[in-house]
Amino acid sequence: MLSLVRPADVVLEINLGAIQANFQTVSTQVGPQVKVAAVIKSDAYGLGLVDIAKALIDAGCDLLFVANLDEALLLRSSRIGVAIAVFRDEFDRYGRWYRSHRLIPVVNNCGELHAINIADKAQTYFLNVETGFSRFGLSCDDVRRRYLLRTFEKHRPSIVLSHLACSEHFGDATNKLQRDRFQAVYDLLNPTRGSLAASAGVWLGKSYHFDMVRVGSALYGINNARVQPNPLQSVVKLRAKILDVHNVPRGEAVGYGATFRTVRNSRVAIAGIGYKHGLPWTCANNISVRIAGHSAPLIGRICMEYIMIDITDVPEVVCGPGTFVELLGKDFTVDDLAAAAGISPQEALTRLGAGCTRQYLNASFPSAASLTNRAV
Ligand SMILES: *Cc1c(COP(=O)(O)O)cnc(C)c1O
Repeated sequence: MLSLVRPADVVLEINLGAIQANFQTVSTQVGPQVKVAAVIKSDAYGLGLVDIAKALIDAGCDLLFVANLDEALLLRSSRIGVAIAVFRDEFDRYGRWYRSHRLIPVVNNCGELHAINIADKAQTYFLNVETGFSRFGLSCDDVRRRYLLRTFEKHRPSIVLSHLACSEHFGDATNKLQRDRFQAVYDLLNPTRGSLAASAGVWLGKSYHFDMVRVGSALYGINNARVQPNPLQSVVKLRAKILDVHNVPRGEAVGYGATFRTVRNSRVAIAGIGYKHGLPWTCANNISVRIAGHSAPLIGRICMEYIMIDITDVPEVVCGPGTFVELLGKDFTVDDLAAAAGISPQEALTRLGAGCTRQYLNASFPSAASLTNRAV
C-alpha cells in the first residue's frame, strides 16, 4: 500500500520515564521483601508491549505477565530475555511452546496441572487459585483434594496467586474474605512466593502483599484506588490537531442528534480525533480540552473521526487550524476522562493506545513501534 508519511493528527505521548518512576514508587511502597512483577497484558494496556517491557526491564523489573502465548512469543522474538509468565493459555495443549521459549504457565485448571505432572522434565509454573472472583483458577477445594493426593509434592508451584475483586474499595468485606481464603492455601502449599494484590491492592496494606504484587494500572499512571495525594506520575498525554474553525450563529445545532445548541454566536473548532481513536463516545458534552492555557468544552456528540470544540472564549491568536489541543495531560488524566465517560480508566487507556499514533518520551532504546506504528 502506498502511504504518505507525515506527522500524525492524533498523538498519544507515552512518558517511559514516568512508567519507570511508578515502578519505583510501587517498589518503595511494598518494601524490599516484596517482589514487584509488571503486568503488560493487552499490549501493555494499549501502550505498546515491547517498548513498555524494555522500559520496565531498564527500571529493574525481572518478571513480566502477559495475557497469552502470542504476546509472550512477540516479546521473545524481540529479544526480551527476562522471565515471562502467561496468565492463561492452555499449557496442556501448547506445552512445547512454553518449553521452547522458557515461558512460565499460570496453571488455571486441573487439566493443566495434570500436564505439569506428566511432563518429562520439571516445569516451572505458577498456580492460580480462585478465592472470590469466579474467573480462572483451581478452587480451594480442588487445591485441598490435590494436596491430599500429593499432587504438589513432586512439582511444587513456585508462585501461588489469586486475584482480588474489590481492592479499589478499601473497606469492602470481599477483600478480607479473599485474603483469608488465600492465606489458607498459601499455608497449605508453602510456595516460594504468594501473590494476591494487583495495583489497588498495593495500598490495602502489608497483609495483602504476601511475597509479590502484580501491577499493571499503577505503572501506567492509573490511580484506581484514588489514593490521595496521588503517588503516581501521569504517563500519557493526548493531543489532537484542529483541522478547521468556523463561526456558528446562536441557536444552531452541533453534531449528530443535535445534542448541543449554541446559546451565543460561537466559534467552533473541529479537531481530528473521534471514537475511532478510542475517545469514548460517552464523554460527549462532558469534557474540555486545553489550548495554550485556556479550557474549551467539547460540544455535541463524538464523531467517528472528529470532535467539535467551543473555542469562542479562546483568543484567536493561539487557536486556529493546525493548533494542537490537549485532551489528556497533567491537568486532566485518563482517570478523569474515564470518570467523565462512565468507563474504567483501563478501558479508556487500552482503546486510546490502540487507536492513536504512539510516541515515546525518555526512551533509552530504539522504539519497536517506530516502524510499524507511525503516521501514514
Ligand atoms: C490484569 C491483572 C493484574 C493487574 O491488574 P492492575 O489492577 O491493572 O494492576 C494482576 N493480576 C491479574 C490476574 C490480572 O488479570
